[in-house]
Amino acid sequence: MSRFCRREGLEPYVPGEQPKGGILIKLNTNESPFPPSPKALEAASAAAGNLRLYSDPECASVREGLARTYSVSPENVLVSNGSDEALNFAFMAFCSADAPAVFPDITYGFYPVFCRLHSVQYREIPLREDLSIDPDDYIDAPGMVVIANPNAPTGIELPRDAIEKIIRGNRNNVVLIDEAYVDFGGRSCADLIYEYDNLLVIGTFSKSRSLAGARLGFAIGPAELIADLDRIRNSTNPYNVNSVTLACGAAALEDSSYMAECCRTVIKNREYTASRLRDMGFFVPESKANFVFASHPRISGEEVYRKLRERGILVRHFSKERIRDFNRITIGTMEQMEKLISALNDILETVK
Ligand SMILES: *Cc1c(COP(=O)(O)O)cnc(C)c1O
Repeated sequence: MSRFCRREGLEPYVPGEQPKGGILIKLNTNESPFPPSPKALEAASAAAGNLRLYSDPECASVREGLARTYSVSPENVLVSNGSDEALNFAFMAFCSADAPAVFPDITYGFYPVFCRLHSVQYREIPLREDLSIDPDDYIDAPGMVVIANPNAPTGIELPRDAIEKIIRGNRNNVVLIDEAYVDFGGRSCADLIYEYDNLLVIGTFSKSRSLAGARLGFAIGPAELIADLDRIRNSTNPYNVNSVTLACGAAALEDSSYMAECCRTVIKNREYTASRLRDMGFFVPESKANFVFASHPRISGEEVYRKLRERGILVRHFSKERIRDFNRITIGTMEQMEKLISALNDILETVK
């Protein structure tokens, strides 16, 4: 930190590694193994010709596409530069020095980073022993409740009645549901925004729509909450989404059958991988995401990570005490999963 910087105590989010070489199979950041929709790529290259002009500050094409996709009205949608930006806006809008945030002890690592950035206190609520969320722990919370559903890095889905219980138990707090992984077999609660004025749903094009590098995310919520977020957006960066990404995202929304097909394949590969891992003695909680979370009684998470890496396979290991036995493994193509399984078989042979 330079002697000029006035922001002591920041602990930035550490993204998964984007390796330069030596890695043959990248399963560490939950990207899609499939390319974006060909229609999205075509729209992106057509839009590049207009880069001279500012992008649409209303993000109308994507906003309207999302409104159709989720059967809501455009005033219920905010479009953001990745969903991380929508999350950041929500922490800015709905938390403060005396309005804390509440989330599980094991969840997306960016939530505490936003809290420290904005000097917001936070309370981490331990997951149950089986790594699931107990909705009763979130009733009458002291501030905004943040739940990733399915949760990351566990992949476990919280059933809809539990989500509704949390929303109903927090009439004076915003309940933010981060649905980054919902398209892989989970159920969105975006349709509940007309029933509850405190529900905010966050989504992303990074995973199920294969557009992580385009940086496109969104929030869906009651018009009043969306207007709050829009005021933050217009106070920070009104042209927050670039025009190539907007064109690409709008076309991706049109091509919903392509996305559905990619998700079906990921789900099939996930179920296959999870069951093979369990056959090998791994503990794998039931995942509704595009990754599995796996630990093994005979070998540490760190050693699995390191030995996979030696074999050119990159997965994500977290050093946090409670989950250090685990690795989070992104679901790839069947060919990649077969290589992963055979590498893990090899590795387990060495620790017999
Ligand atoms: C990947 C992820 C995001 C962020 O995705 P963006 O690429 O910023 O849209 C948000 N929440 C969770 C839980 C994620 O795993």
